Amino acid sequence: MQTTAIIGAGIAGLAAAVRLAVAGHTVDVYEANAGPGGKLSQFSLPGSYRFDFGPSLFTMPQYVDELFELAGEDPRAHFHYTRLPEVCRYWWPDGTRFTAPASTAQLITEAALTFDVPEQAMRDFMDTAARKYTLTGRTFLEKSLHKARTWLDPQVAYAMLKIPGLDLFRSMHDVHEAALKDPRLVQLFDRFATYNGSNPYKAPGLLSMIPHFEHHFGAYLPEGGMYDIATSVYELGKRLGVTYHFNTPVTQICRAGTQVRGIEVGGKEVNYDTVVCNMDVWLAYDRLLPGAKRPRITLQQQKSTSAVIFYWGIDRSFPELGLHNIFFSHDYAREFATLEAGSLSDDVTVYVNISSKYVSGDAPTGHENWFVMVNAPAHTGQDWEQLVSELRAQIIAMLSRELAPARAPGWLAEHIRAERVVTPPDIERLTGSHQGALYGTSSNNRMAAFLRHPNFSRQIGGLYFLGGSVHPGGGVPLCLLSARIVADLMEQAEK
Ligand SMILES: Cc1cc2nc3c(=O)[nH]c(=O)nc-3n(C[C@H](O)[C@H](O)[C@H](O)COP(=O)(O)OP(=O)(O)OC[C@H]3O[C@@H](n4cnc5c(N)ncnc54)[C@H](O)[C@@H]3O)c2cc1C
Repeated sequence: MQTTAIIGAGIAGLAAAVRLAVAGHTVDVYEANAGPGGKLSQFSLPGSYRFDFGPSLFTMPQYVDELFELAGEDPRAHFHYTRLPEVCRYWWPDGTRFTAPASTAQLITEAALTFDVPEQAMRDFMDTAARKYTLTGRTFLEKSLHKARTWLDPQVAYAMLKIPGLDLFRSMHDVHEAALKDPRLVQLFDRFATYNGSNPYKAPGLLSMIPHFEHHFGAYLPEGGMYDIATSVYELGKRLGVTYHFNTPVTQICRAGTQVRGIEVGGKEVNYDTVVCNMDVWLAYDRLLPGAKRPRITLQQQKSTSAVIFYWGIDRSFPELGLHNIFFSHDYAREFATLEAGSLSDDVTVYVNISSKYVSGDAPTGHENWFVMVNAPAHTGQDWEQLVSELRAQIIAMLSRELAPARAPGWLAEHIRAERVVTPPDIERLTGSHQGALYGTSSNNRMAAFLRHPNFSRQIGGLYFLGGSVHPGGGVPLCLLSARIVADLMEQAEK
């Protein structure tokens, strides 16, 4: 029986553990933290406020369901989620409000009523997003791009031929501006670049397929909050016989020549046939693979954005807010230019997620748990204390103004009963993510998809990589796909 060590119990590591256990491997998962989930973990603040640490938007739940099905279990017996009737409430500084409905058809109708856009232009735009996904998304997200057999597949060859005509040579912003014109709607769709930590003024227009995920496949919320995703997959792994070692950082990937031999934990070597690394790939080369040749160009790619997050226990409720809320800045281009320069704008776009709108136990009755997030540059030594103090004042002033302009400036501060602040260096420390990047590397250039690290090592036999820092990229759905790709590669290698 093949023995496999998985380094890291992020969602990709947890999913791979399930897949490999089903395939008959003996699987040990080693996790530096005290519990599973990585970025997909949770915590509480005094006053009975529960928070998901990281992800708040859940799309493509079928990738979780398929893990249960693979194990011969009914997903609905173990993992429950709701499709959201509305996706997001958007606020603009000029007073425009827009609640994005769940379905594409409704989105098209309602957008044409609110914005200066003909219904047909909206329909064409969403049709193009769907076409981009159908032609290329599946091909490039569900297969290894670094194996010859992928390129021999006629579907892949067809997708390659189509790609240049699918806005590879224009930025997302240029595509949105040409198709939608109304600057508010352009800003709404530009924001989808941030779903993988990218900049809409640089990321290729091919990525304007992202809204198709949210509106066609839907946006969801697990019954007990996002952490349910991690715990349900972790529990499934336990039922399949996976062994988890928490508080157990791996300190080295051991090799015999060009073949993996096992891992080092607690100063001792433990032998395995294969090793699967869910640790951020940049840090894995830096810390676990001394002497190994580094894939220089791959590791030099620009990081995705990080975030500053304020987790606030709020002592009242706000019916005008939903689960997902976005408060846009006046000038998106300036905001991204400031991010690129490594700092935070004095006019930021603010995301407020309130899971207690759906999960009643997440805050006491009449209270709410606010996850208030701002895109931030990756950590390269900025003075976060100073930036956070200015940012907090800016956000409180803006939200107070937007939610009740007649009240005294900054009134919202009186309602914050509990608080935790997380900065890019905290994300780096708590989740082992180089420079605190949320999604590994950005998609800010045309070749980004091809420049992510492969799901296997080119130099060391038996070593595989998965998770947000490698192909196909960051975000929970893609991490789940990386686990699927790794399991497929391992199965091929065993043949
Ligand atoms: C604030 C925030 C908001 C986000 N919002 C969304 C969202 O709304 N939707 C979405 O889909 N995605 C979102 N993401 C991105 C998403 O969370 C990640 O892409 C995904 O969870 C990463 O999973 P992963 O498998 O790569 O592992 P990670 O979650 O990065 O976990 C890696 C694990 O490896 C462990 N580890 C590292 N080194 C070692 C070692 N040497 N030994 C043992 N263990 C080790 C770490 O402790 C960690 O637990 C967000 C992320 C953050 C931080």
